[in-house]
Amino acid sequence: MTTATAPLSSLAARARDVGASPVREILALTARPEVISFAGGLPAPELFDAAGLRAAYDAVLATAPRTALQYSTTEGDPALRGAVAARLSARGLATGAADLLVTGGSQQGLSLLATALLEPGDTVLVENPTYLAALQCFGFAGARVVPVPTDADGVDPEALEQAVLRERPKLLYLVPDFQNPTGRTLPGERRAAVAEVAGRHGLWIAEDDPYGELRFEGERQPWIAGLTPAADRTALLGSFSKVMAPGMRLGWLRAPAALLRACVIAKQAADLHTSTVDQAAAARYLVDSDLDAHLERVRGAYRARRDALLAGLDSALPPGSSWSRPQGGMFVWARLPRGCDATALLREAVRRDVAYVPGAPFFAADPDPRTLRLSFTTHTPEEITRGLSRLAGVFA
Ligand code: PMP
Repeated sequence: MTTATAPLSSLAARARDVGASPVREILALTARPEVISFAGGLPAPELFDAAGLRAAYDAVLATAPRTALQYSTTEGDPALRGAVAARLSARGLATGAADLLVTGGSQQGLSLLATALLEPGDTVLVENPTYLAALQCFGFAGARVVPVPTDADGVDPEALEQAVLRERPKLLYLVPDFQNPTGRTLPGERRAAVAEVAGRHGLWIAEDDPYGELRFEGERQPWIAGLTPAADRTALLGSFSKVMAPGMRLGWLRAPAALLRACVIAKQAADLHTSTVDQAAAARYLVDSDLDAHLERVRGAYRARRDALLAGLDSALPPGSSWSRPQGGMFVWARLPRGCDATALLREAVRRDVAYVPGAPFFAADPDPRTLRLSFTTHTPEEITRGLSRLAGVFA
C-alpha cells in the first residue's frame, strides 16, 4: 500500500474536519483485559442468545438457501417486517408491514432520514446532550444542529416551541426512552406537548428508540409516533441491536408513506438492501424462539448492574456530584462538582484501569466539562463495585 495521502483540500468539505479525537485515542487504551470500562455502549455479549440465533441461521440455510443467500427487495424481508409490525401493534401502535423499512441498524435509518429530509443549511433541533453519532449524521448532511434546553426529564416543551419559532427547524431528533447519553426518559405529558408543537408548526420528528425494550421498572410511555398531532410527521426508528445482537446490523424505520418511499429510494442507492440471510434468520428466530423471555433475562441482569452502579456512586464520585437514576437502558449520566474536568481526569482513570466517556462531545453546543457517561451493561455487579473503588481513587 502506498503511504501518499491525498491533499485535504480534495476531500468534500463535510469530510475535511473529521479529525482524530483525543478521547478516542485514550479510550483505545481501555482494550486491556484488566480495565473495568464504563465507557462502552455495548450490550453484554455473554447474554446474546447465541444458541437460538445459531439454530435460526441453520434453519434458514437448511430450508431456504436459495432465497436466503440471494439479492432481495430494498424494503426488507416480508416476514421480518410482519413480525416487527405485530410487536408494535401489540404495544398499541397500529402498524402494518408496509409501514416499515428494514435498515442496517437504526444508524442507517438516521442517515436515510437525513438524506430524505435535509437540505444543506436546514436546521435540526436536538436534545443537549444527545447521541454523538446522530450529531455526526446531521453534520454530514450539512445541517445546522441547534440544541433545545433540556432538564432531568428531557426536552422542555415550552423551550422547544420558542426554539421552533426562532430557528424554523425542519426536524427534531429525540431519544425519548433511556436516552444516550443521559439515561433520561421523556414523561408522557411532555411527549403529548412535543407532539402538539410538531403538529402546530409542521416539524418532522425522528423518534429514535433503540432502548425502549430495556425497561426495568416504571410505566412504558407512549411513542410520539402514535400521538395524533405528530402521527403524520414522525419517523420511528427501531433496532435489534440491544434486543438480539448488534453485529447482525438490523433495525427498522416506521414512517408516513411519502417519507418511507423516499427512504427506500435512498437506501437503494446506499446498499440495495440489508443482508438477506440476517433478516431471514431474525425472522426465523422470532418464530422459533421466545424473544420476550430472552429480554426478561437481559433486563434482569442489567437491572442488577444498574443497581450496583447506583449503589456505589455516592462513595466513588466526589461530594457535590449528581447523577441520573435511569429506569432502563444502558447509561447513567453524572456531573462532577465545580472545577472538575471529566476529560482531563480520564487519563488518570485509564492509568488506574478504569474508564468512562467524558460528556463534552455529546453536546451540540455549550459542552459541560463536568459531565461523564457511565455504561453499566458489560460488567458483573462485583466488577462494577471494583471499578467504582478505582474511580474513587481517581477523584480523591
Ligand atoms: N441511536 C442511539 C440513540 C444509539 O445509542 C445507537 C447505538 N448505540 C444507535 C442509534 C445505533 O444503533 P444501531 O445502528 O446498532 O441500531
